Amino acid sequence: MIGLIKGLKTTLKAFFTRPVTVMYPYHKMEVAPRGQGLIRLRMKETGDKPVYKCVACGICAKNCPQHCITVEKKEDEKQPLVYSVNYSMCIFCRICIDSCPFGALEQTQEYEWVGETRDYFIRDKEALAMDEVFHEAGQVNDSEEEV
Ligand code: SF4
Ligand code: SF4
Repeated sequence: MIGLIKGLKTTLKAFFTRPVTVMYPYHKMEVAPRGQGLIRLRMKETGDKPVYKCVACGICAKNCPQHCITVEKKEDEKQPLVYSVNYSMCIFCRICIDSCPFGALEQTQEYEWVGETRDYFIRDKEALAMDEVFHEAGQVNDSEEEV
C-alpha cells in the first residue's frame, strides 16, 4: 500500500511538472555553441574572390579515424581540387578540425540534414563552404588572423 501511494505521488508530481522535451520539429532547442554539427570549409578574402583556407595538405584526411575525407591538391596552387566529406561515415569527432594546422575547418551547429541515398551524404568542397552560413559568420572569421 505504501508503495502504491509512493508511486501515485511520483505520477502526480510528474503530471504538474513542465516537460523537458519539446515538440520537434515544430519547436527546436537552441544548440550549444560547442554543439558538433556539420563541418564547414572556411574561406578567406584575397582581393578578387574568396579562396579556401585549405591548402590541401591532407593532414585531416590522414587523421580521420573513419577515412571519410578525400583531398586532392590543384597542380599549380595550394588549393583543393577535390575536398569532400562522406557524412554517411563521419562520427563528428572533430579530429579533422583540431588537426588542421591552417584553421581551415570549423564546426557548425547545423544538424538537420536528411537524405535517402548514401551518395547524398558525400559533400563536396562547394557544399562544405556552406556559403549562406559563411556570410553570416563573416564577422567572426574577419576578426581572426588569416593564414
Ligand atoms: S582542411 Fe586543413 S588539414 Fe585538411 S587538407 Fe585542408 S589545410 Fe590540410
Ligand atoms: S569529424 Fe571525425 S569522422 Fe568526421 S570527417 Fe572529421 S575526423 Fe573524420
